[in-house]
Amino acid sequence: TVGGIECSSVFADAFPELAVPWQSARPELPAPLVVNDAVARDLALDPRWLRSETGVRALLANEVDASARPVAQAYAGHQFGNYSSRLGDGRALLLGERRNQAGELRDIHLKGSGPTPFARSDGFAATGPMLREYVLGEAMAALGIPTTRALAVIDTGRRVRRDAELLPGAVLVRVASSHMRVGTFQYARSLRNDELLARLVQVALERHYPDRASAESPALALLDGVIEAQAELVAQWMLVGFIHGVMNTDNVSIAGETIDYGPCAFMDAFEPTTVYSSIDHQGRYAYGNQPGITQWNLARFAEALLPLLDDDEARAIELAEDRIGRFAAQYESAWLAGMRKKLGITGASTDADTTARDVELAQTMLQDLRDHRVDYTSFFRALADAARGDADPISELFARSSDQGTAPRVDPASSSWPRPWTEAWLALGPEAERMDRVNPVYVPRNHIVEAALDAATAGDLAPLTHLVDVLRAPFDVRPEHESFAHQAPKGSWIGATFC
Ligand code: AMP
Ligand code: MG
Ligand code: MG
Repeated sequence: TVGGIECSSVFADAFPELAVPWQSARPELPAPLVVNDAVARDLALDPRWLRSETGVRALLANEVDASARPVAQAYAGHQFGNYSSRLGDGRALLLGERRNQAGELRDIHLKGSGPTPFARSDGFAATGPMLREYVLGEAMAALGIPTTRALAVIDTGRRVRRDAELLPGAVLVRVASSHMRVGTFQYARSLRNDELLARLVQVALERHYPDRASAESPALALLDGVIEAQAELVAQWMLVGFIHGVMNTDNVSIAGETIDYGPCAFMDAFEPTTVYSSIDHQGRYAYGNQPGITQWNLARFAEALLPLLDDDEARAIELAEDRIGRFAAQYESAWLAGMRKKLGITGASTDADTTARDVELAQTMLQDLRDHRVDYTSFFRALADAARGDADPISELFARSSDQGTAPRVDPASSSWPRPWTEAWLALGPEAERMDRVNPVYVPRNHIVEAALDAATAGDLAPLTHLVDVLRAPFDVRPEHESFAHQAPKGSWIGATFC
């Protein structure tokens, strides 16, 4: 147990060579900023107790009895394309696992809990980025996108230095399906330890892909499972306009969850080259690159698995290439299925002609959004209105396109309604009610998130609490609609996000 929070050490027991026993720092005056009631209850933890002094100490793993084994996990990874054979949890610890209401194991993990032997910097975290993980995780969960979630964010009372600033520090208590990453497998591969690699495969398969656990080739089954899950995940990101920002292989979850919300953001105007991350100078992780980068990351995963895919290296490479080659079709089919729902055209037929027709329709629409700098999220709700016969909201979106800070790519005079694709789309009989159930009204817009984080950093949590409330019901129009539903007004547009 960890100070009253009963945990198992499944990972630490199975992988002693990947788990460095370590203690969290003990802040003098910790105070809970947020405790996530829903996540707490799912883990059979009492949120009221978690907010108490003993609860907070338990969350921080500051009261650890002899049986508890918080560990820093070892992993490697490609960061912006460059390989590091040793990254690991530099400022994080895995406390252990608990079962949720569905009976699945969940990692309980600390971030910002002090330097470990893997530390590349101070080992702490500033409040803003930890609260951002909370906000984004809640938004993604409500959108139905696989994600890690915050169980709590705790103010440590300790200041952390970031650039020239001293900022309030915090610990994020994060819950994940697991923290096994592509980088975990790359690390085992770097050690040239095939037995360890095979053990990782078996545990990951049983934990995340139990249906495939008895496959003849566990490594191939895991590769297939992860490719499928990641294709599905990145399709979901693309469909909601999410930009992860740091798709390094150490941030790619074997479970297929969104993990490590750093300088991530939701796109406003539809523009595939959009980058927000202040550390992504080359635009490697731009919105439109995400499917290709996912495939690249999966190829690194396949490489790590090579010794287990076949004894004959040439044959192993052939198998890996075949599987990685299937990614594109899986991604495209997941994306199209989601896009058809967004467009309200979910008829039964998915034959080749229908597929070609729908892909072309969607691409024409997206190019139109791009040309006119139309807000991506607002567009689909306005489109549902158009399906109901009310074209005012959508024609207003196109008309407004020129005053979003950046100039439209085409003559604004060409923005009148109907659009060149309107007739073809209406002919498919789009169902407005269904569209409204998959197209969010509210996403964590960058300028709103930043304002809420700034207020929280200054001690006022009310805007953040309100924002999370809104994001937890993203499909329902609220009375305070105007403050949450729109693109940043000119002048308050956020161009860069920081981790
Ligand atoms: P990330 O960019 O957050 O995925 O982290 C990449 C690597 O840098 C991981 O090994 C982290 O543990 C490490 N790292 C990031 N920030 C810090 C920090 N403030 N202190 C120590 N290590 C860090
Ligand atoms: Mg990371
Ligand atoms: Mg990070």
